[in-house]
Amino acid sequence: MSTSPAKPGPDSLRPEVQAFEPYSAGLSIDEIREKYGLSQVIKLASNENPLGVSPVVQRVIADKADTCFRYAQVGNPRLVAAIAEFLAPWNITPQHVVVGNGSDEIIDLLIRLRARPGQDNIIAFKPCFSMYTLQSKLCGVEFRQTPLNQDFSFPWDKFLDLADENTALAFVTTPDNPSGFTPPVSELESLARALPENCILAIDEAYMDFCADQTAHSLLPRLEEFPNVVVMRTFSKLYGLAGLRLGYGVMAPWLADYLWRIRPPFSVNILAEEAGMAVLKDTVFVEETLRVVNQGRDFLTQSLTGMGCTVAPSQANFMLFRLPPGAPEAKAVFEALLAKGVIIRPLTSYGLPDSLRLTIGTEQENRTFVRCFQEVLGG
Ligand SMILES: *Cc1c(COP(=O)(O)O)cnc(C)c1O
Repeated sequence: MSTSPAKPGPDSLRPEVQAFEPYSAGLSIDEIREKYGLSQVIKLASNENPLGVSPVVQRVIADKADTCFRYAQVGNPRLVAAIAEFLAPWNITPQHVVVGNGSDEIIDLLIRLRARPGQDNIIAFKPCFSMYTLQSKLCGVEFRQTPLNQDFSFPWDKFLDLADENTALAFVTTPDNPSGFTPPVSELESLARALPENCILAIDEAYMDFCADQTAHSLLPRLEEFPNVVVMRTFSKLYGLAGLRLGYGVMAPWLADYLWRIRPPFSVNILAEEAGMAVLKDTVFVEETLRVVNQGRDFLTQSLTGMGCTVAPSQANFMLFRLPPGAPEAKAVFEALLAKGVIIRPLTSYGLPDSLRLTIGTEQENRTFVRCFQEVLGG
């Protein structure tokens, strides 16, 4: 007599997992090239660096390829020291810094560190970066949101109304994605003072590197005054390392210590470590990127405005715009651009079906976009 083994199905998984709606990413160049049989495709959809990978970093990665059989050193001490040195003008020390497999990992760890499933809640604006929502829900933590103002500025009173004594974390993105809106630092300061005791204010500064006047917009230079604040930054955008996965959080040393305890020991790999250290010193690449992004932002803002679009003012390397009255729907414009080999980002998943988000590209990519966009609107 033989009994067959138990056969677990989806019903056996955690309810949070069964209800989980996965992250919806921008389309890839290869997908579009194949689908439309195009030779040239440009991607202005995921806010990546327009110049690609710094040549200095490419050399370092090639040089270090033979070290990949090793595990990275636990705690990534050389990389942490390099980041702290970079932030030293703002009195940041290695004890304040935790590196992660993208800032996505820091977001995930903060939630798991702080929020008790079924008991605590997390607050954010709507729309917000989907990782906050996804990881909160996956952890079984209530996620509360209040809509942004019509002009994408932040309604702080309503945000604070969401909070109570069980609010574990408050996520704020600045410059905001997808609008590019960047509140003055005084507003963040007031928020940090007004949040309930024990609530961590997690400020996602993925795009702060593109902001011309950081001290006017970031609390990072004054972290010592705000023990309840965590600032997150990434190497995925300005530094051109999205595919290597490297981000970091800056926070009070006692909190950093606990984050390190729960972080998987090898989540930041050896090549990400080397690339991160190299690119922090690569001021030529960084300055050239900033020049291209600033020029591109002006050019695209003028071009889109000239065609009747409404462009949200942005301090980041992307811009949100609304189509002119009488234009086809945003989804149709997005698809017509795809057919021409230009990938941008529809914002339906952000609840903004009338708007599109455009990453600032190289001068040539920007011109190609404008030409194709004109064709789409004209025909
Ligand atoms: C791109 C982005 C990040 C960066 O994520 P990584 O995991 O570091 O690649 C974080 N937050 C926001 C709002 C972003 O748009």
